Amino acid sequence: MCRVVTRSSAGSSRPLSAEGVSHSSLATINTLSQLDAALANCRACPRLVTWRERVAIEKRAAYAGQTYWGRPVPGFGPADAALLIVGLAPAAHGANRTGRMFTGDRSGDVLYAALHTVGLANQPTSMHAGDGLALRGTRITAPVHCAPPENKPTPGERDTCRGWLDRELDLLAPTLRAVVVLGGFGWQALLPVLAGAGWAVPRPRPVFSHGVQVTLDAARPDRVPLIVFGSYHVSQQNTFTGRLTPAMLCEVLRQAANAAGLGPD
Ligand code: SF4
Repeated sequence: MCRVVTRSSAGSSRPLSAEGVSHSSLATINTLSQLDAALANCRACPRLVTWRERVAIEKRAAYAGQTYWGRPVPGFGPADAALLIVGLAPAAHGANRTGRMFTGDRSGDVLYAALHTVGLANQPTSMHAGDGLALRGTRITAPVHCAPPENKPTPGERDTCRGWLDRELDLLAPTLRAVVVLGGFGWQALLPVLAGAGWAVPRPRPVFSHGVQVTLDAARPDRVPLIVFGSYHVSQQNTFTGRLTPAMLCEVLRQAANAAGLGPD
């Protein structure tokens, strides 16, 4: 049986069934640091658990001397973020190695350089979890938190992981004002979560494209409107071919930063 294991503040393990990765089962987690710690012990997707751990043992030759993280990768950034960036899933030899979103691979090189250019990161590089990188008012997460084979999670794995994103949005909601979604997979995954988390998502659902911008009205009294931006994903497939240039990414991030109140002083 698939199992999720959360750790209490005292450090004891508490197993949950796979169907336990739900909003209700995570409702007792009241801070993002607790959520991140619990997430790092999740084992709900058998295929992804096998893959992430196998990659961590076999390793890429260039990283043979390193200890891979090999676990679910939590979101990265402050708990009072006004801007959320939503990707796809950790890369096998990037975040699955370093334990931090978009850290240690070419996609991250592009993303963090752009975040630094627009004033949302204190440095342009993201090499490892202890490199001093800090984000300003910005958090980075993913709809699937474990590295998938060929960077392709299944719809079922996306749905299983949804509970973590649900709760993350709940905890960020008081300060959250804008979201940048990197790629169509993240867009498809996020909109239903936003609809369930208290924002009014139009029907039919807005279609993903680079540069698309959608304002979602609050559907609950404890929510405020949220502006959602789309950008092509920072995958090598897009950046090496010029489909996504640094200038295109910076422009979307700049607009989102302004919408989130994180523009230049
Ligand atoms: S993808 Fe999400 S739900 Fe599946 S094992 Fe990883 S953290 Fe758990």
